[in-house]
Amino acid sequence: MQPFIINATQHADQAAIVADGQTYTYQQLLDASATMAGWLLDGRDDLAETCVAYMITPGFDYVRVQWGIWRAGGIAVPLALSYPPPSLRYVLDDTEADIVVADAAYAGILAPLAAERGIRLLVLGQNEPTHSQPTLPALSPDRRAMILYTSGTTNLPKGVVTTHATIQAQVSTLVSVWHWSADDHILCVLPLHHVHGIINVVSCALWSGATVEFMPNFSAEGVFNTFAQGAINVFMAVPTIYFKLIAYWEQLPADEQQAISATLARFRLMVSGSAALPVTVMEKWQVISGHTLLERYGMTEIGMGISNPYEGERRVGAIGQPLPGVQVRLVNETDEPVPDGQPGEIQVKGPNVFLEYWQRPEATQKAFTADGWFRTGDIAVNEDGYIRMLGRDSIDIIKSGGYKISALELEEVLRTHPAISDCSVIGVPDDEWGEVVSAVLILKDTDVTPAGINSWLRERLPGYKIPRQYRIVAELPRNAMGKVTKNDLKPLFLTN
Ligand code: ATP
Ligand code: MG
Repeated sequence: MQPFIINATQHADQAAIVADGQTYTYQQLLDASATMAGWLLDGRDDLAETCVAYMITPGFDYVRVQWGIWRAGGIAVPLALSYPPPSLRYVLDDTEADIVVADAAYAGILAPLAAERGIRLLVLGQNEPTHSQPTLPALSPDRRAMILYTSGTTNLPKGVVTTHATIQAQVSTLVSVWHWSADDHILCVLPLHHVHGIINVVSCALWSGATVEFMPNFSAEGVFNTFAQGAINVFMAVPTIYFKLIAYWEQLPADEQQAISATLARFRLMVSGSAALPVTVMEKWQVISGHTLLERYGMTEIGMGISNPYEGERRVGAIGQPLPGVQVRLVNETDEPVPDGQPGEIQVKGPNVFLEYWQRPEATQKAFTADGWFRTGDIAVNEDGYIRMLGRDSIDIIKSGGYKISALELEEVLRTHPAISDCSVIGVPDDEWGEVVSAVLILKDTDVTPAGINSWLRERLPGYKIPRQYRIVAELPRNAMGKVTKNDLKPLFLTN
């Protein structure tokens, strides 16, 4: 926390946050977060090891509460705004939170859950102190600072604990490699219970004396209108957001398209991550904006680990190279490094790596090798110094008849078919083959048949990679980060 406070003090009169048409300076953030810390402490000296959950619309209130928790010494537990009551209950029980903070929008959903568990509920604006200067505890960097829950793409979400030192390592590396400065102004459209939003966007900006502008309810039109005002120069998003921006742009008249393109050309940096960036999206965005999206790879457990360069070639279809200070290796099933060009599991070591899964010592132990490498469970290949993702071992690497097939590679090929607008490939359990390659498609042209797609694929891929079965859907199921929840697709093949 300390470096954030020192940096904020140096930029006291500059704009830290823009939300709801208002601008808040770093001095306002410093004052409001100290007052918040006092309210949370409520006479105690220190909230060390105390989990404080919070459910707040992205904006000034969100950040003053998060900083308030840190300054009071507590562990910040952001709750996803999309969580229904059972998921909220899961996180409140799992963390054994003592305090939960809500804004008026979320007080209603949290009140009964807090009451059931005897959790102190603070509602912003209700009996809230307006100004106080409490004595704040000293924070050592190795103190637990935050618990972020993984997206739950593969399993029940796990609480990932980071310390203040972990967060500082994650943030300071990105600030340096992506050239953040106090002149930057970023638009945040991402949820804040996830590293992409809270670390890469909000924390990097506030570390740098830059400005974060919040748009809690994403709409493509709203994003382009905000860009048109001319202040924003940095943008970071997940591939589905770029996909939606492209779809909106494509249906505009030519003069409006050109105006948007001219605005985008002035940006300093545009980043994509959290899920594989389809080559089609990257190429279309290049045409619209003149920018080659900077694709990077990260995880709740490691922050960012691998990135295409800020300067130098950003390779289409690749996630790039290890970030400075992050050790990365690709290994086989027995944790031995594989030669370049061979697929292997990404393993990571460095000060950016999380401390532990919250109250899951066995899961933590299993996640690391004996010599301290974190097992990401993601499979990738190093090609001429650029790492390319093949997918998650448990979901995207389909084991069929002795072959290992990358769903991500197959999805890339399918997306280039003229009748397919999007797709997702999975392995469906099968007695004979182990798994069979199965594809779920969203079609632009419904005249196409599975047989037609397969003969088109046969000209491009070896036979064992060709899907055995297809399903057509109107939309793919996705989580709050826009990732396709592939486990939800399996029933499509099992029921008929
Ligand atoms: P859970 O761990 O609960 O199953 P999750 O792994 O989706 O959920 P996150 O930590 O949000 O939770 O996501 C990290 C994962 O996202 C990585 O392990 C990787 O599979 C994927 N990912 C991140 N960036 C990229 C990228 N640029 N390309 C492809 N996949 C990516
Ligand atoms: Mg994961």
